[in-house]
Amino acid sequence: MMRGSPEQLRGQELLSRGVKFPLIDIDKTLILGKNSSHFGAFNYAFKTVFGLPNASINQIIPDGMIDRQIISEVVRSNGFPVKEIPQRMPAAVDAMLTYFRIHKSEDTFASTPGAADFLTVLQREGLPLGLLTGIGFRSFFEYGAFGDQADQRVDLIPLAISRASNLLGQPESLPEKHFVIMGDSPRDVACAKAGGLEVIAVATGSYSTDQLRDAGADLVVATLEEQQKICTFLNI
Ligand SMILES: [Mg+2]
Repeated sequence: MMRGSPEQLRGQELLSRGVKFPLIDIDKTLILGKNSSHFGAFNYAFKTVFGLPNASINQIIPDGMIDRQIISEVVRSNGFPVKEIPQRMPAAVDAMLTYFRIHKSEDTFASTPGAADFLTVLQREGLPLGLLTGIGFRSFFEYGAFGDQADQRVDLIPLAISRASNLLGQPESLPEKHFVIMGDSPRDVACAKAGGLEVIAVATGSYSTDQLRDAGADLVVATLEEQQKICTFLNI
């Protein structure tokens, strides 16, 4: 007779079916839209914390980067001393949160095609939606602990895996082979490969299916509407 907590039983059942658990990027993979409060928050931090009124997030292509990487890259390229960046980071994070809280109601978002249906399938199949945490350009705001714990996106993978394993009732982190990153940019692909994970790329962001295939994605789809292909890949 099987014994264990509901989480353990669910985890064992999914694992015995060979289900691969997706770790899903948010921006341009699940949602599209005007993200002005997040972008404005960066510029506010550049100005008030680093004294760089002309520094802007528009000076880089932030797709697939986490917030701390974005801050570092922009202030460095605007001449701020690299060594002094870490000590300013907590103040930068605070400034961003302050700005975000005031301006977030100005944002408008829509889901990418097929996103809601795809999430419904994951939910129906009993995959913990907690898996969504930890990966994503907007992760700092959605899941503060993660965004603040990592400087590089690849550092988020063990955190996401650990949390997911926990939600599945596993006493220790499951091996990387049980997880698949889903994202919209070549950076997501590179991040997955650096972490030893397979990756599904969705062309709802700034990159074409050809570009994502060239980047080395294991499966490329135009949108999440290609649900059947994705589910087959994930064994669900
Ligand atoms: Mg993205």
